[in-house]
Amino acid sequence: MVKRVHLRLLQYGVTDDADCMLCGQGIETQEHLFFDCSYSRRVIHAINQVIGGVPATHDLLERSMQHTGSQVQKRVLCALLVCLVYQIWQQRNKCRVDMQVLRPEKLSSLIMQEIRARIRSRDLTMVKQDDVDWLHSLNLL
Ligand SMILES: [Zn+2]
Repeated sequence: MVKRVHLRLLQYGVTDDADCMLCGQGIETQEHLFFDCSYSRRVIHAINQVIGGVPATHDLLERSMQHTGSQVQKRVLCALLVCLVYQIWQQRNKCRVDMQVLRPEKLSSLIMQEIRARIRSRDLTMVKQDDVDWLHSLNLL
């Protein structure tokens, strides 16, 4: 989608720059934006400082798709991945329109707040103690 949108912008003359606006170090493609962009990597790194064990977007993707771990754990990792992709896309758009972008540490904090709010809005009384302990271990509760 990123590549298509950007190609259209190039085609219509809205932009003549194919470089990633978040980092300026690569051609803006989906692969770059969500997996290789230094900005995105800094966001992931900042999240990793809080929850640990998630060194890159592709690792988060793999972990959320794996069949190991409980449904609760998979759903939380999947929600984190979705939130991460959405927020990076939002920052990319803000950067393009407003020429402003949140610092990666601020964005990671925002993502963690959103995930914690989602978890806390749920009724956890039926969640297994192992999953509650896992959420505590990731600093999500
Ligand atoms: Zn980039």
